[in-house]
Parts: sequence; structure tokens; C-alpha cells
Amino acid sequence: MKIGVPKEIKPQEHRIGLTPESVKTLISEGHEVLVENNGGFEAGFDNEQYTSIGAKIVDKAEDIFNDADIIVKVKEPQSAEVKMIRENQVVYTYLHLAAAKELTEGLIKSKGVCIAYETVTDDNGRLPLLAPMSAVAGRMSVQAGAHCLEKNQNGRGLLLGGAPGVEGGTVVILGGGVVGENAAVIATGMRAKVHIVDKSEARLKQLVEIFGDKIIPEQSNKIDLNKLVAQADLLVGGVLIPGAEAPKLVTKPMLKLMKRGSVIVDVAIDQGGCVETSRPTTHGDPTYIIDGVVHYCVANMPGGVPRTSTIALNNATLPYLVKLANKGYEKALREDKNFLAGLNVHKSMVTYKAVADIFGHEF
Ligand code: NAD
Repeated sequence: MKIGVPKEIKPQEHRIGLTPESVKTLISEGHEVLVENNGGFEAGFDNEQYTSIGAKIVDKAEDIFNDADIIVKVKEPQSAEVKMIRENQVVYTYLHLAAAKELTEGLIKSKGVCIAYETVTDDNGRLPLLAPMSAVAGRMSVQAGAHCLEKNQNGRGLLLGGAPGVEGGTVVILGGGVVGENAAVIATGMRAKVHIVDKSEARLKQLVEIFGDKIIPEQSNKIDLNKLVAQADLLVGGVLIPGAEAPKLVTKPMLKLMKRGSVIVDVAIDQGGCVETSRPTTHGDPTYIIDGVVHYCVANMPGGVPRTSTIALNNATLPYLVKLANKGYEKALREDKNFLAGLNVHKSMVTYKAVADIFGHEF
């Protein structure tokens, strides 16, 4: 098969669909790979790294879309890209169609075969191609929060890890899922005092098995969140109710309980945020202050570390892509119901129920 990797064109997106390492695997399986000129440059992957293992560098995205059987991307196709998708061409990328009517209509019109990373499932009903980006955002949340706590970022002037003879800071993590667990990895590593709040007792038990007494588990229906919020130097928001807006666990009046210069990193901002005063920000201008509390609410945190994110994403997406390329999409999807769950649009038909329902399409 011919696999094409165009350069991402969404503003501020610096990841790329395939690393040179992934390309090497595909070529060793007998496939051809076309990569757009400098497509991996911002993630630290030069053209030579791709050509040295047998990929072909192509000058224009148009030539990739014209030639490839499978297009591999990171972000949802932008309107210029949607126009280039051909009938029967497989497009393998994040799509997030439920919030994108125009894109959905464009993909229907293209008659392409569109597989969304974010709806591929595993046997436990989890989302294995979304998890790596949550892991990156969770780890980054504590790094970003620690930076915001510095005085010249308008923070409390507090080092999360403390110093010899000086206590460290307190981190309160709302949501003990993938984001929460990964935030805890970094926060405990920094020697902060770490509370994790989750509504699921079973999940909190798992977290205690992982972290032992390095974390304090807090079951959300059994605690006074006001007290916990008042103790926090850094509050990380990572709750998720799948398919719904994040619940507002921290209300505006609760901010008044927080210490001046404390920091909120609301990772759940892409689902509206779990703090009432959160609004989306960008890597260019990541923070704002309300009631003396620094808010960091960057909606695409993994985009800030494109090299790590690209590699983490590829670790998850490549095994499915190899199946897709080796077997052809029909056989690969038919054999694996979890992979089939990723198929959102198939030759003019919406094949993902939630998207079909939202936009009134036949399913
Ligand atoms: P997840 O499903 O793994 O974890 C969510 C956790 O929240 C679960 O353990 C669940 O039990 C808990 N929860 C739900 N409602 C709760 C409540 N009312 N009280 C306490 N706990 C509750 O989800 P995740 O992968 O960790 O993602 C978390 C959020 O981060 C999502 O909104 C995701 O889209 C977002 N995210 C944002 C970025 C970014 O760049 N900003 C990047 C990746 C993920």
C-alpha cells in the first residue's frame, strides 16, 4: 500500500502522523511511504531521517492525497484537506466529528473511509488512542503548574518539591483517570503532597496500589471539597464524563477559599473545564488570573511538546495502521470490533452512532 503523511496545517499544530521509526516498520512490511517536505521538522524529525530509511519526500500535500491509499494525520482534516480526500481513500487521524458538522458533511461528500483515533476502543471499553495524549497532558500539567507557581509568573513563589528543611507544596488532582494518574506520577516524583479525588472507589483503590502512601485518595462523595481546595497550591482538573461536558466541581465562590498565587491547571478544558472560572487559553498566552488564582487552561497541551506527543501517539496508532496496510481496511476492521469502533464515515455513510444522531444522518 501507499501511505501518505501530509504536514499538519492546523494553526499551532506541530506533531506529524508518523515518526521515522514508524515509517521504518511500514517499509519493512513492504509498504511505500510518502512524507510531505519538512512535515516532521517542528517535532524534530528531518527529511533525511525519513529518506534514509526509504520514505519519499513529496513537495505538495496535493500530490500525497492524489497518490496514497491511506492518509495518516494527527488533527482533523482542515477544509483544504477535505477537498483533496478521494473516494475509497482511508483517512486515519483524530476527527472529533460530534462537534464538527461542516467537517462531517465534507467527509461524507469525499466518499473516503474515515477512521477516528478517538473512538477506537479496547476490551475494557477504554480509548487506547486517546490515552497517550491524556498521559502527556497529565504529566505536563504538573510541570506547567510548577512553573506558574513561580513568583514572576504571578504564583505563590513556592517550589512544589520544597527544599531541605522546607515543606513541599500540596497538589490536589480532580479525577484519577489517565490525566490524574500521570499528574500524580510527576507530582509525587517532585515530592509534593498529593491528594487524588475521584468518584470511583474502585479506581482510587487501583491508584493506591500504584502509588502506595505517596498519594492520599479522596472519594468525591465523602469529602468536603471546600477544605481540600483551600489547602491546594496546585489544583489539576482531570475529570471526564464521556461524551458530556465536564462537571463544574470548583465554583467561582470556592476560588475565594484558595490561597493567593495558587494555580489551577484545568486539563479538562477541552470538555468545558471542571472549574467554573476556566476558559480556553493557548500556548502563546496560557494563563490569566481571577481572585488571585492563576488559571492555566491550554486546550491542546500535547501540542506544546510535539516530539514527545508524536512518539507517544505513534506507539498507540502504529499497530492498528500495520493491520490496516497489511490486510486492507475491510478485513482489518471486520476482524477487530474495537478497531471497527473507530470507523466514523464510510463512503458517504456516517458509521458512528453518536455522530449520526447529532447531525440527523441515517445510521
Ligand atoms: P479518564 O476517563 O481516564 O478519567 C476521568 C476520571 O474522572 C475518571 O476516573 C472518573 O471516575 C472521574 N470522574 C468523573 N466525574 C467525576 C466527578 N464528578 N468527581 C470525581 N471524579 C470524577 O479521562 P482522562 O483521559 O484522564 O481525561 C480527562 C480530561 O482531560 C478529558 O476531558 C480529556 O478530554 C482532557 N484532556 C485534555 C487535554 C488538553 O490538552 N487540555 C489533553 C488530553 C486530555
